[in-house]
Amino acid sequence: MIIENGMVFGVGGKFHKTSLYSVGGKVVKGEDAPGTVCRTASRILDAAGFYVIPGLVDVHAHGAVGHDFCDGDMEGLRKIAEYEYRSGVTSFCPTSMTLPEARLAEIYAAVPMLLREMESVGGGERVSKEKAAEAVNFSRIVGIHMEGPFLATKKCGAQNPKDIVPADYDMFCRLNEAGGGLLKIVTVAPEQARNLEFIRRVSGEVNVSLGHSTAGFEEAEAGFAAGANHVTHLFNAMNPYHHRNPGIIGAATGQKDVFVELISDGMHVHPAAVRDVFRLFGDGRVVLISDSTASCGMPDGEYVLGGQAVLKDGRKVTLAASGGMKRLGVAGLPDVPNGKAVPGGGKLSGMAEAPNPSDEVIAGSASNLYECMCCAVSFGVPLESAVKAATVNPARSIGLEGQIGSFVPGAWADCLLMDETLRLRAVISNEHVTWLS
Ligand SMILES: [Zn+2]
Repeated sequence: MIIENGMVFGVGGKFHKTSLYSVGGKVVKGEDAPGTVCRTASRILDAAGFYVIPGLVDVHAHGAVGHDFCDGDMEGLRKIAEYEYRSGVTSFCPTSMTLPEARLAEIYAAVPMLLREMESVGGGERVSKEKAAEAVNFSRIVGIHMEGPFLATKKCGAQNPKDIVPADYDMFCRLNEAGGGLLKIVTVAPEQARNLEFIRRVSGEVNVSLGHSTAGFEEAEAGFAAGANHVTHLFNAMNPYHHRNPGIIGAATGQKDVFVELISDGMHVHPAAVRDVFRLFGDGRVVLISDSTASCGMPDGEYVLGGQAVLKDGRKVTLAASGGMKRLGVAGLPDVPNGKAVPGGGKLSGMAEAPNPSDEVIAGSASNLYECMCCAVSFGVPLESAVKAATVNPARSIGLEGQIGSFVPGAWADCLLMDETLRLRAVISNEHVTWLS
């Protein structure tokens, strides 16, 4: 297939007017594309006027369209994967909440079952081209993010504190086996008893992310020294940056190889802080995530998240028990995608600029990663940096660089066409084009 005349997001992180070639659903160099085979009308797509970017990779998503990964329901997971695909997220890591081990084992077991059904294996590799065509409308499940239960009860956020336990290597191994060896990230609070030892032992097998933690600077540094290489939703569920104890945030800035997740939905992190994170960490280390919950893609109302009632109001989700659903009485967030409409974070980011009432606990997000990427642009993050943080960086953070998230030869040619207002117009995978209205 040839996608021509578009502004293609190149490997160097810049847009160029060029063509994108693929054979068998994978990116090839132009000179390697068998021209006579490709040069048939059905194999050429004119992308004039569109940005062509890699399909997005979300390494932290709990659910969408009324389903949560923790429902442990294969059909629900399939619905989530369908929603993600239509939203431009062509690869994702379903993310589990804090639950008892037996329950987590059941939930994780749904993943290899679904992958088998989709004729897929870990890493998104699909075994037959014919079967691949059938599976084309689903986001690739490229791993599992285990967000609990090795957390700090004081920073549990929307996670249920009663199921939080000290980190346990054997338990991790049992759960990883239940999930078909697909655990890619485990979130750990490094200051809790036994957890540092766990990080040392497990970090060769899985990416360890610091988060849901009360760690001070030294404790966070110890976590990174033990092998952690990732931070779970920077700022959220951790101590703030304090000039005498800069905590996980301060410790992460000094670690060249650590990726930091950021929820740029306009609710979790102030637009100015989103801009600062890109300045501070550089656009090579920021991993935009959605942290999306079952309410994502649903009308406003009440939903269940990890066994707890939550309320959705626009793009805001709060724990019902915390007195959520208080409207802030200010202008709403911009309707995304309109990233280019308000460069630098203008009037439309008013709602996000307003502080959240202190008695509300934000419980995940109601935005998908594509919306978060567009929000980041509307806050003043350069488009190239936002795209990088939603594609290349997350893929690299889970060790799948070169397979997803970029147009390097050999990678899956999953790509999105977006217009100049950043509206998503088409999702392409396995050389199958899904046009969106
Ligand atoms: Zn989460």
